[in-house]
Amino acid sequence: MSANTPDTIPFVDLVAQYKRYQSEFDAAWRTTVENSAYIGGPALQRFEKAFAEFCGAKICVGVANGTDAITLTLRCMGIGPGDEVLVPAHTFIATSEAVTNAGAKVVFVDVDPVHTLMDPTKIEAKITKNTKAIIPVHMYGQLADMQAIMPIAQKHGLKVIEDSAQGHGAIEHGKKAGNFGDAATFSFYPGKNLGAYGDGGAVTTNDAALADKIRRLANHGRADKFGHLIEGVNSRLDGLQAAILEVKLRHLETWSSERRAAAKRYNEMFAGVAGVKTPKTRTEGAHVFHLYVIQVQNRDALREHLTAKNIQSGIHYPIALHELEAYKYLGHQASDFPVASAFCKNIVSLPIFPEITEAQQQRVVEAVKQFVGQAR
Ligand SMILES: *Cc1c(COP(=O)(O)O)cnc(C)c1O
Repeated sequence: MSANTPDTIPFVDLVAQYKRYQSEFDAAWRTTVENSAYIGGPALQRFEKAFAEFCGAKICVGVANGTDAITLTLRCMGIGPGDEVLVPAHTFIATSEAVTNAGAKVVFVDVDPVHTLMDPTKIEAKITKNTKAIIPVHMYGQLADMQAIMPIAQKHGLKVIEDSAQGHGAIEHGKKAGNFGDAATFSFYPGKNLGAYGDGGAVTTNDAALADKIRRLANHGRADKFGHLIEGVNSRLDGLQAAILEVKLRHLETWSSERRAAAKRYNEMFAGVAGVKTPKTRTEGAHVFHLYVIQVQNRDALREHLTAKNIQSGIHYPIALHELEAYKYLGHQASDFPVASAFCKNIVSLPIFPEITEAQQQRVVEAVKQFVGQAR
C-alpha cells in the first residue's frame, strides 16, 4: 500500500482516536508498566467486570483473541470431534476456523439476501443428529435475527454462541449482543469497534460453570487450589491490553452513536444514486456499524478509483467461505450458498470510524458517484 499523504482518507483512523484521548491512554499504559502488571492484575479484573456490565452479562473472561474465544467456548461446552457446528457462509474465516480448531465439523448456512446475516429459514435443513451448536455472527455491527434463531436452537437442543467480534454494543429490544445465546465471543483486534493495542478477546456468559471452565482452559488448565486437573492452552488477555480497553470502553457508547450518525450521513448522501446499494438495517438504532458496506458493479475498479483519490477501502470478505481453497475438502459448489456467493462479488467497505468528518464522507461519496456515473 502506498504511504498516506496529508489528504488520505484512512479506512480506520486509530491515530485520530489516540490523539483524542491521549492523556487517558498514556496514563493507562504508564500505570501498567510502572506496576509491571503484564499478565492478570487489577486492570484485567476491572475490565472484565466493566465489560460484563456493559454487555449486560454476568461474567466476562478475557482471552487472547476472538478466534480463541470461540474455540475455547466450544471445547468447554464439550463440543469437538464427531460434532457439527452451523456457521454462516458469509463471515470472516475465524468463525469457521474456530470450529475446526475445536475438532468439530464446519457446516455452512446461507445468509439472507437483504441483511446478509445467517438466514434462519435455512438452518433446519442443515441440522443432523450430530449438530451441537449454532454460531450466528453479528456481521458488520448488526445483530443476527436472534428472535428467529433461538427458538430453532431450543427446539433441537443446540447451544448458541454469538460471534460478536463485529458487534460490541449492538442492541435490539433493549438487549445487547451477547444476551441471546448461551455465550458470546468478542474480538479486541485493534480495528474492531472496541480494539486493543494488539490482539485480545473475551467470552461473556451468564453460565458461571462454563466461565470457570473457559478461564481454566485458557490458563494452562490451572485450577486455583488443586494444581492442574487438565492440560489447557495459553490464551490470556494481557494486562496492557486490558488497561487500554478499560479506557476505550468508557467511550464506546459515544463511538457507536458517532458511527451510526456517519452511516446515516452516507445513506443520505447516496440516496437516489443509481448503481450504489447501501446497507439495510434490520432495526433502527441497533446497528453499531463496524463496517459500512455498499454493493456496486465492478467493485475492483471502484477500489482502484478510490485509491487514486487517496481514499482507502476494504472488502469484507472477497470470497464466500465455501468457495475458499481452505474449504475445498467440504466439496461445495458456489451455488450451494448462492446468496453469500453473489454478495461477496459486489461489496466494498467504505471508510467509517467515530472521528470521520462530514467533509471526508463527502469526498468518498463524490468519488463513488463519479465512478458509477462513468460506468453507465
Ligand atoms: C475479527 C473477527 C473474529 C476473530 O477475531 P480475532 O481477534 O482476530 O481472532 C471472529 N469473527 C469475526 C466475525 C471477526 O470479524
